[in-house]
Amino acid sequence: MTHRRCAELFEQAKKYIPGGVNSPVRAFKSVGGVPRFIERASGSRMWDADGNEYIDYVCSWGPLILGHAHPAVVSALKAQLEKGTSYGAPTELEVRLAKMIVEMVPSVEKVRMVNSGTEATMSAIRLARGYTGKSVVVKFEGGYHGHVDSLLVKAGSGLTTFGVPTSPGVPEDFARHTVTVPFNDIDAVKRVFDEVEGVCAVILEPVMANAGLILPEPGFLENLRELTADRGALLIFDEVITGFRLSPGGAQEYFRVEPDLSCFGKIIGGGLPVGAFGGRREIMDYLAPEGPVYQAGTLSGNPLAMVAGIETLKELRKPGVYESLRKKTEKLTEGLKESARKAGIEHRLCFKSIESMSVVFFTDRDVKNYSDALTSNTSAYALFFQKMLEQGIYLAPSQFEVAFVSTAHTEEDIEKTVEASELAFEEVARAFYR
Ligand code: PLP
Repeated sequence: MTHRRCAELFEQAKKYIPGGVNSPVRAFKSVGGVPRFIERASGSRMWDADGNEYIDYVCSWGPLILGHAHPAVVSALKAQLEKGTSYGAPTELEVRLAKMIVEMVPSVEKVRMVNSGTEATMSAIRLARGYTGKSVVVKFEGGYHGHVDSLLVKAGSGLTTFGVPTSPGVPEDFARHTVTVPFNDIDAVKRVFDEVEGVCAVILEPVMANAGLILPEPGFLENLRELTADRGALLIFDEVITGFRLSPGGAQEYFRVEPDLSCFGKIIGGGLPVGAFGGRREIMDYLAPEGPVYQAGTLSGNPLAMVAGIETLKELRKPGVYESLRKKTEKLTEGLKESARKAGIEHRLCFKSIESMSVVFFTDRDVKNYSDALTSNTSAYALFFQKMLEQGIYLAPSQFEVAFVSTAHTEEDIEKTVEASELAFEEVARAFYR
C-alpha cells in the first residue's frame, strides 16, 4: 500500500489549512503516519487519493449509519438540488423532519434545527440558562459536547471546584460557570448541588462515546433524572452520537429515561451539516421568536440537509434495522476478542460495545469513567491502528473514539476485519506485552 499522493496532499494542505485539516483528529497526530485523503466512498468502503480501498468504521464520525452514498439519500439529494439549495424561508421539509424526530424521540415535543452538534449544545445551554434563570452547568469528565466555550472545560482540583478551560481562548470567567464531575458518580453530582448555587442544567452523553466507549451503570441515568428534577435543574442529554443509533428514539428510549432537553446532530443530517435541539414544549417555547432566548441561523433547516435526514430516518424506521446492526457489531466485538485471545492478550484489554458502537481499550481496567479510559496504552493502540490500516481497515485514528458499524457493512466486511485483527493484535502483543 503506497500513500505518496496522500503525503503530497497533506504537505499542500498544511500550507493553507492549520495543521492541514479542518478538524484536529483527522491529522492522525495521536497515531502517527499520513492522514488518508479520501477521494470517494460507497457503502462500507472508502478509497483514498492513492487508490487504496478501506472498510470504514469511522463513518464520518457517526452520521453515516446507512454507510456512504446510500441510494435513497443520494437520489433525494439530487432531486432537491434541482429545486435550489437554500431559501432562508421555511420549508415543508423542515416540518417533515421535525415531525419525524418528535414521533421517534420520547421526550421531544418541539425541535429547532441548527447546523452542527456544537450549535445544538451551545443553544440548549443558553436555553436552559434563560429558562431557569440560573447559569452553572454540570458536565462529566471526558464528555465532549462540541467546541462550545463553556463546555471546553475540565475539572479543577477538588470535586466541586469550578472548571478550568481546556483550551486557550476560553476565558476563565466562562469556565467558572461549569463544574465537572466523574461519570457514573451520582454522589459527586449530589455534592455539587449541595455546595454550588445556581445550577441550571446537567449535560451528558448518556453513553460516553468521545472517551472511547463508557456505558452508564445501572441506575445512574435514573438517579440523575430524579436529582435534577428535585433540585430544579434541567437534564440535557447530548444525543449527537447516541440519537437514532442506540434505538430509533436514541439513548432515552433505550434506557427509558427522559431528559428535559436533547441535542442531536450527525445521523439526522444523513452526512450533511446539521444539528438540532429539542424538548418539552414549555421549554422550547422560550426560544425566539416565541420567547425571549435568542437563537438563529442563516442555513438552519437547510433543504439538502433536511432531505438527507428524512431519507436516513425513513430507512432506520424499517423493521429489523437495529437488530441487524447489533448482531453485526456483536460479531465484530466477539471476533476481535477471539483474535486478542489468540495473541494471548485478551485479558490485557477492555472490550466495550453497545448496539452499533464498539471499542477496544488497551488497558486491563474495566473502563467506567474517564480516568479509567486514560490508563489505556495509546502507543499500543497506535500500532494496532496502523496494522489495521495497512490491511485496509480504517478505524478511528485515536484510542478515545469508537468504531461505528453501518447498515452497509456486510458479514464479509466483519470477517475481513476480524482476520486483519489477528495480525494486528499479534504485532501489538509482540511489541508491548511479551
Ligand atoms: N456532542 C457529541 C456527543 C459529539 O460527539 C460531537 C461531535 O463529535 C458534538 C457534540 C459536536 O458536534 P459537531 O462536531 O457537529 O459540532
